[in-house]
Amino acid sequence: MFKTIEAHVRKQVAPAALRAEFRQHEFESMRPFCLLVFCVSILIWLVFDLIVSFLGGQGLTWLSGLFIALLGCLTLVLRFTRRSHHFDVLNLLFIIVITLGMRLVIEGIPVARRPVWLVLGVSTVLYAVSVLPVRRWSFFCAMAITWVVLNPFYHTRIDADELEGAMLLSYAVFLSGLVIYSYLQMRKAKLHNFYLSKVLLEQAYIDALTEIPNRRSFMTQADRQLRLAPSERYLAMIDIDNFKRVNDRFGHDVGDEVLKRVATHIKASMSGFEYARLGGEEFAIFFQGLDQQGVEQRLAGLCQRVREDTAEHPVTVSIGLARVDQGDSLTTVLVRADRALYEAKHTGKDRFVLWSARLADSE
Ligand code: GH3
Ligand code: MG
Ligand code: MG
Repeated sequence: MFKTIEAHVRKQVAPAALRAEFRQHEFESMRPFCLLVFCVSILIWLVFDLIVSFLGGQGLTWLSGLFIALLGCLTLVLRFTRRSHHFDVLNLLFIIVITLGMRLVIEGIPVARRPVWLVLGVSTVLYAVSVLPVRRWSFFCAMAITWVVLNPFYHTRIDADELEGAMLLSYAVFLSGLVIYSYLQMRKAKLHNFYLSKVLLEQAYIDALTEIPNRRSFMTQADRQLRLAPSERYLAMIDIDNFKRVNDRFGHDVGDEVLKRVATHIKASMSGFEYARLGGEEFAIFFQGLDQQGVEQRLAGLCQRVREDTAEHPVTVSIGLARVDQGDSLTTVLVRADRALYEAKHTGKDRFVLWSARLADSE
């Protein structure tokens, strides 16, 4: 089953909207990690700057202060960044500043040792960028900036056609290829996982036939609503009248079409409230923030809508309504709504009945 869905998902090209949703989701979940990477980068840079300044006898200059201030500001901005496409730009700014800072530090060490430290710097920055939630254009720009600013052939007296230069060049090509490959593969795998989990979640919470939320979704949402601050709340259970007859006369396919039609009416007239197909030809709605009159108006409207539907094979619905009282469990309310639904069925169908203690007494 899992393999079948996975194969199906693999074949699909993720639409642009889903890619955007993935990027945003990934950024939101990785924001603390991005902050950590920024902070640790600043710290490591500062340690090296202090080592070169004091042990290297260069002395601390105002430039160090400037870089720390800039990097600190960018980290502060990240703290308040909420959109993934803003991070694409912010990360580039951070890389420009930190690579310039790294160049400054490396310029403070003997010229013969610079190439090794420049390549080490490039490797570190590229690895960090490859695991951050950035888009392709931002990743490739970051890569270009890093190689330009930390170019091991600039200001190092090394030539590409000498032994060390040739080795360095080969390593640069190898490193870049490896980082690009792992970045692209990782993004593909992450996108695929995101898509797969979305499909599976939808299948777990959406009814396959009517494409409205299913029982599991309803129970979770209604239970959550019950825990919120007490206010006027109602639960309605809906059952299609004489549905068996539709199936028997016209077949299951027509029955399915009728189910979809009723679900469409519920969806269209109950937006803003939790609704679901509980199973079979039963649906439920959870009303929050409406008074009794408002709920009754909506339910009367739904009965009318279904009754007056001019499509083939017309049906009607009966509805049992129960008010949620302080301390009621979801099960209690469902039982009451079911009892009221029973009453609606036995007093002529195509109507709604509100549960009252009288119904409980008459059982
Ligand atoms: P009542 O007015 O008292 O509700 O009578 P009814 O005929 O609707 O009776 P009941 O609610 O017991 O009927 C449920 C029927 O719904 C039985 C079952 O065959 C049918 N059913 C349940 N799930 C599906 C489904 O997914 N598709 C179709 N076509 N029929 C379904
Ligand atoms: Mg039924
Ligand atoms: Mg029925």
